Amino acid sequence: MTAVDLEFDHLNSTPDALRRSISNRLIYGVGKDAVAARPQDWLHAAALAVRDRLVARWMKTTRQQYEQDVKRVYYLSMEFLIGRTFTNALLSLGIYDQMNEALASLGVDMAAVTELEPDAALGNGGLGRLAACFLDSMATLAIPGFGYGIRYHYGMFRQQIVAGEQVETPDYWLRAGNPWEFPRPEVQYIVHFGGRTIQHEHGVEWIETDHVNAMAFDTVIPGFGTSATNTLRLWSARATEELDLSAFNQGDYRRAVEAKEHSENVSRLLYPDDSTPAGRELRLRQEYFFISATMQDLIRRYQRTHSTFGRFADKVAIHLNDTHPVLAIPELMRLLVDIHHVPWGHAWKLVQQVFSYTNHTLMPEALETWDVDLLAKLLPRHLEIIFEINAGFLKEASGHFGHDIDLIRRISLVDEYGQRRVRMAHLAIVASQKVNGVSKLHSQLMEREFFSDFARMFPERFTNVTNGITPRRWLAQASRPLSSLIDARIGSRWRADLFELSKLRAFSEDPGFCAEFRAAKRTNKIRLAHRLLHETGLAIHPDALFDMQVKRIHEYKRQLLNVLHVIARYNAIRANPERDWVPRVVIFAGKAASAYKLAKTIIRLIGDVAEKVNNDPVVGDRLKVVFVPNYGVSVAELMIPAADLSEQISMAGTEASGTGNMKLALNGALTIGTMDGANIEICDAVGRENMFIFGLNASEVADMRASGYRPRQIYEENEVLRLALDQIRTGYFSGGDSHRFSDIFHTLVDWGDHYMVLADFEAFTEAQTAVDARFRNPRAWTASAIANVAGMGQFSSDRTIAEYARDIWRVKPLQTD
Ligand SMILES: *Cc1c(COP(=O)(O)O)cnc(C)c1O
Repeated sequence: MTAVDLEFDHLNSTPDALRRSISNRLIYGVGKDAVAARPQDWLHAAALAVRDRLVARWMKTTRQQYEQDVKRVYYLSMEFLIGRTFTNALLSLGIYDQMNEALASLGVDMAAVTELEPDAALGNGGLGRLAACFLDSMATLAIPGFGYGIRYHYGMFRQQIVAGEQVETPDYWLRAGNPWEFPRPEVQYIVHFGGRTIQHEHGVEWIETDHVNAMAFDTVIPGFGTSATNTLRLWSARATEELDLSAFNQGDYRRAVEAKEHSENVSRLLYPDDSTPAGRELRLRQEYFFISATMQDLIRRYQRTHSTFGRFADKVAIHLNDTHPVLAIPELMRLLVDIHHVPWGHAWKLVQQVFSYTNHTLMPEALETWDVDLLAKLLPRHLEIIFEINAGFLKEASGHFGHDIDLIRRISLVDEYGQRRVRMAHLAIVASQKVNGVSKLHSQLMEREFFSDFARMFPERFTNVTNGITPRRWLAQASRPLSSLIDARIGSRWRADLFELSKLRAFSEDPGFCAEFRAAKRTNKIRLAHRLLHETGLAIHPDALFDMQVKRIHEYKRQLLNVLHVIARYNAIRANPERDWVPRVVIFAGKAASAYKLAKTIIRLIGDVAEKVNNDPVVGDRLKVVFVPNYGVSVAELMIPAADLSEQISMAGTEASGTGNMKLALNGALTIGTMDGANIEICDAVGRENMFIFGLNASEVADMRASGYRPRQIYEENEVLRLALDQIRTGYFSGGDSHRFSDIFHTLVDWGDHYMVLADFEAFTEAQTAVDARFRNPRAWTASAIANVAGMGQFSSDRTIAEYARDIWRVKPLQTD
């Protein structure tokens, strides 16, 4: 920054300057008098005051990007799970305390108004949250990048628990206006659907289409400890004609409006399901809407400073966050070939240089495919392009492997078995210069098993980049008690260099530090206990072991394994209440996809077990069970710092990486977990002795499946497990209703127990016994907790983004002088 900029920043950062800005923005931005202002208005005014300060940096960054003619990264994601922005922006600008003081001087309680900001919940879970952490790290590392996505009117549904069941209500997060976004009515692109193609002398034309406009909304993403910022550009659908004038003129007002409403549906809502595309046609429209606008936008930006496509691959990197944006590949081909008249071969070379793809799951039911007939109807030109890419690819494959029909069938972009479908992951792999998994194990399984044919053909293409999380939000912002303790001991540089935390190892036996470390955890536990008391009426004791499983509800994540342990523990306490039980609060949170029946039944079971356990006078404080509703980023920020134990118990080979595991370990929780996803790397980093690893590993899972897994035999032979399962089956927790949980029982015992819950049960309960033993020894527990925090350096998303920038995107940071 220049001296003038610094001076400008400084003047603007004093509590006094902030107070003046807030008053100003209240009047001229919100249009309210201080006397009439509601807390919501103060928040809005304060947000605008902060935004003004970000905008100065933003414009400077944009100017520098143009001047340096940098290569830009376009990060395409259907989801961005950002959460709240206010506190994050204050911490980025280094004006948290000043703002607190400024608001106090205006008679406003900052902590209270902060809670009024709605979460930007434009994502389902881990994948969307990863995209949000990446934006933060790209800005912090001054990597010139843009996030691109959809501005859903309705984000992830709000979850309420009514009579034990999940009830979904719409999340209209824009109700009170969004002070962080800038509408860009001048940035609009037409997106076409339907119609047909005709072959001309000079090429193909796509005609007789319907269309909708995509309009840009920009959000500033501040970097931490830098003046660099980035942009998140989200598209919103606008009807190309406000009204159907002919219908209007015929007096059919309703029909005139309907057409507009219909076309704008495309950006209406986020699909509340991250594995099985529902409402298929609308979902496909969404995907195409978003990537078509994005491709048009990035070509326009490139052409502002270049007259040919000669340097396109030097200036553009396009990243596909999972397969949802894969239509960007045929769309870029279409734009280059049909619109800009680049010859096919040249266009294909460019495409293969600019795209890269991250795979997020290997579970067959979650691999995206699209019906050829639906594509033919909605995107006929793109289907032709996909077929042409496939023809070229299969020819190349035959050249490489010889004529092998089975192989050709396996790798083809089109699944010809039954209803013909396009395999989006295959298209992504064929068109990308790099393909990565999100943890070492996941990348290995990808290369050696799921995509091994491709890996043999393009060995240099496959790589691993293990996920990470931003320490700004997940430690500095979420846990002020722990982050100020760390600052006091090792300084504050860890925010931008998480490896600094390794210095904490020196303090793991320091009684003073350990006492303060425990006190920080206790403060966070009390904060959570207060909120739970207030919101659910349940009282929990802060000295109990807080045992947390917080993540989407899914069979593969095995909340059921956790519940079975809770039931077994409950039975054991009742049988022997006088033993020296370690008091435990088992805390669950997570949303179930609205169409996922069994996941919803799991929530119901947790509720029923909680009801029984929490009201049993024999049990008392020895065991409590809580389900915290509406898990999202803000709820996670409240819960994670309060955890003692982190449950990461997916069946080995199913959790691609996990990032919740990283957030919890960074906050000093010990992990009980399987050797799955990034748990394996966390184990290497913090030491196996500081975790509770149990159960089958990925190859043992595969072996057991191959040799014929028989869950019913385990049920019959393990008495503790049988009792728990029989209680579930016979209605012990459901007031005698033996129907309610019969699917759960049969899934585990009779229908194959696909995620091997029963196989891992005994090992899990043994690991839980080891947890109790360690927790009885506070010194040993605290030393392990500190080892966890100290070992988390490599799990910063700054490290992750630095690897993407260097190895995949080949972009350099902006010079910010
Ligand atoms: C981190 C995070 C996730 C991912 O959690 P996993 O345990 O990795 O599945 C999901 N939702 C929210 C709100 C998160 O912050």
